Amino acid sequence: MCDRIFLVLLGVPGAGKGTQAKLLEKQFQLPQISTGDIFRYNLKNETDLGKLAKSFMDKGELVPDSVTIEMVKDRLSQSDCANGAIMDGFPRNLVQASAFDEIIDRHGGIDLVPLIALEDDEAMRRITGRRVCRSCGAVYHVDFSPPKQEGVCDIDGGELYQRDDDKPETVRNRLYVYYKQTSPLIGYYYAKGLLAELDGSQEIGQVNVTLLSLLAEKGVIIE
Ligand code: ADP
Ligand code: ADP
Repeated sequence: MCDRIFLVLLGVPGAGKGTQAKLLEKQFQLPQISTGDIFRYNLKNETDLGKLAKSFMDKGELVPDSVTIEMVKDRLSQSDCANGAIMDGFPRNLVQASAFDEIIDRHGGIDLVPLIALEDDEAMRRITGRRVCRSCGAVYHVDFSPPKQEGVCDIDGGELYQRDDDKPETVRNRLYVYYKQTSPLIGYYYAKGLLAELDGSQEIGQVNVTLLSLLAEKGVIIE
């Protein structure tokens, strides 16, 4: 295995980035850095950052780059990122991608950018059925990945809720924002030889197996 591993997971909202990031987190003892989760944590705790982020998140728009980049810089400076991290939801546009290159260069750069490919209709089905634990953030799906007891988290018994921005009207705008602002990153990382696309339509365990073999094939990990 490389000394440090930095992965950037790309894919439409609902593609399965968070689900796969959580599996990789356990498999490699590397932290998942989800900018969406950090914003939601701040929202819940009513911090200034949370209040600012809320107005953008409610509309499905991106939170301004300066705020987001500073937040990620701060997160990456924490000791648990010394061996790398799994980026989930950042970078999300070209400004963030080039800022991330600068931050990450001194850590040896990005190892791979797996693109989890999924059709929009399927993404919509996944997002509208997504449920999240209010206390630990674990992610479920009412049909595809249901908890043992409806509405209750298997891990800590917390209440499961639907994110406000997972309602169909907001999801449509988030998909639009993805195609407009985030999809140019596909070309950006392809040109750097870092992009690796995989089929995200399979079931969760199979996507994970495909992702692990991709990491092995690209020399990021040794199986
Ligand atoms: P999903 O996993 O469904 O794609 P996220 O949890 O990543 O959703 O993001 C939820 C919202 O948080 C976004 O719609 C956006 O408002 C905000 N957000 C998350 N990451 C970023 C980012 N890198 N830059 C700007 N805004 C972000
Ligand atoms: P993202 O972080 O890309 O927005 P999530 O990982 O939160 O996506 O997944 C979106 C929803 O789809 C969640 O409800 C999750 O349980 C479900 N899900 C994730 N991966 C799969 C899969 N391979 N098959 C079926 N459902 C999935």
